[in-house]
Amino acid sequence: MVQQTALTIALEQLRLAAEKLELDAGIHELLKKPKRTLIVSVTIKMDDCSIGVFNGCRVQHWDVRGPFKGGIRYHPDLTIDDVAALAMWMTWKCAIVDLPYGGAKGGIACDPKKMSQEELERLTRRYVSLIFDYLGPHRDIPAPDVYTNEQTMAWVMDTYSQLKGYSVPESVTGKPIEVGGSEGRVCAASLGLALCIREAAKLLKLNLKNAKVAVQGFGNVGYNAASIMHSLGCKIVAVSDSSGGIYCEDGINPSDVQAHKKKTGSVINYKNCRNITNEELLQTECDILIPAALQNQITGDNVDKIRAKIVAEGANGPTTPEADKALHEKGVCLIPDILANSGGVIVSYFEWVQNLTREHWPLAEVNAKLENKIVKAFYEVQKLSRKEESDMRTAALMLGVGRVAQAIKTLGLWP
Ligand code: NAD
Repeated sequence: MVQQTALTIALEQLRLAAEKLELDAGIHELLKKPKRTLIVSVTIKMDDCSIGVFNGCRVQHWDVRGPFKGGIRYHPDLTIDDVAALAMWMTWKCAIVDLPYGGAKGGIACDPKKMSQEELERLTRRYVSLIFDYLGPHRDIPAPDVYTNEQTMAWVMDTYSQLKGYSVPESVTGKPIEVGGSEGRVCAASLGLALCIREAAKLLKLNLKNAKVAVQGFGNVGYNAASIMHSLGCKIVAVSDSSGGIYCEDGINPSDVQAHKKKTGSVINYKNCRNITNEELLQTECDILIPAALQNQITGDNVDKIRAKIVAEGANGPTTPEADKALHEKGVCLIPDILANSGGVIVSYFEWVQNLTREHWPLAEVNAKLENKIVKAFYEVQKLSRKEESDMRTAALMLGVGRVAQAIKTLGLWP
C-alpha cells in the first residue's frame, strides 16, 4: 500500500468536508493551498566552527479569521508537505474552538538530539531573523511543537524583540512564565485532551477509575496526558517514545518513568515492565489510546488490531482517513486532533491576550476558561456528528472548514 503523507491525509479530509458542506468549488480550491510559504536556508556556525546548513520553512495557511498561529517543529524528517498539512489543521482547529486566529506551522529539518544548546540557540535566532518580516503579534504568532520548548520560545521572543528594538512578549506563546508566559500553558494540550476524554467517557458510560490507558509519545503532550489521566484514577499500562515502549499490566507512575527517561534518555528498560515496540503499543488492549507523537500512526495496515474504546488524538494527524472509517465502523470513539489537542492553542490565545493587556491570570482562571471553551466545542462537534450521522472527525472538519469558508465569503476577495 502507498504510504500516505500528512498532506494527502489533510487534503482528503478537506475533500470530505467540502463534499458534506457542498462547498463552493473555488473556495475548496483556495483552501487546498496555503496563502504563503516561506522557504529559508538556515546557516549557522557549529560548535566545531564548521558551517551548518539547514532547511527551514514557515507555511501560513489562511488568516481570514485572524492572525496566523501555529507551532515550530524541529525534526530530522520534516518535509514542507508535512508542515503544509500541519498549518491547514491549525486553521480548522482555531475555527472549531472559535479563536480569532488563522493557521500556520513552521520548522527546521534538523536533529536537535545531536545539537548542543548553543547550536540550537543560533539555529532558532537565525531562523527567526529570516522570517521576521512575516511574523508579529498581529501577523503570525509561533508556539512550541515537537522538539521545541519554552526555551526555544524565549529565544524566538528575544530575537523578535531585539530586531524590533523593544520587548514584544505577545510575538510568541509557550514562553517561560518569567518572560510573559501563561500559567498552565505547558500542560494545556494535555489538560484539554483529558477534558475531552472525560466527556467522551461520560457519553460511553466508561468509568475512568482503573480504565486502562496507553500513550504513544512521552514528550510534552504524552507525558502530561499520562500524568493527568493517572491523577484521574486511570491505569497507565503502556507508554513509548522514539526508542520504543514499555508495558505493565498493573500500570506505571508517569512521574517515576519520567525520572527514568531523564536519567537514561528513554522510557524503555523501566523496572517491572516489558519492553514493546511502538507498533505493539498501538495494539495494546486498553480502554483509551492516546497517540501523542507523530502523524500517520493508525493506518489501513494496523487499524484492525486497535483494541481501544476511545482514541484521543494528542498528536496531529496520527490517523489516516481509511483508518478513521474502519474505527467508526468498529464503534470506536475517536476524538479528532483538531478538537482533542486544541487546549494548547486555546491557552496560547489566553497567553497572547494576557500579553496584549499586560495582565497575568492565576492558574485556576486559565484552566477554568480552557475547560469552558473546549467542553463547549466538544458538544458542538458531538451535536453535529449526531445530526450528520458521522464520526466526530467529519463533524469537527465541517464545523472548522465551514466557519473559515463563511469568513472568506463575508470578507470577499480583494482586489
Ligand atoms: P515533544 O517533542 O515534547 O515530544 C514528542 C515525543 O514523541 C517524544 O517523547 C519523542 O520521543 C516521541 N516520538 C518521536 N518520534 C516518535 C516515534 N516515531 N514513535 C513514538 N514516539 C516518538 O512534542 P509534543 O509537543 O509533545 O508534540 C507531540 C504531538 O502533539 C505532535 O504531533 C504535536 O504536533 C502535537 N501537539 C503539541 C502541542 C503542544 O503544545 N506542544 C499542542 C497540540 C498538539
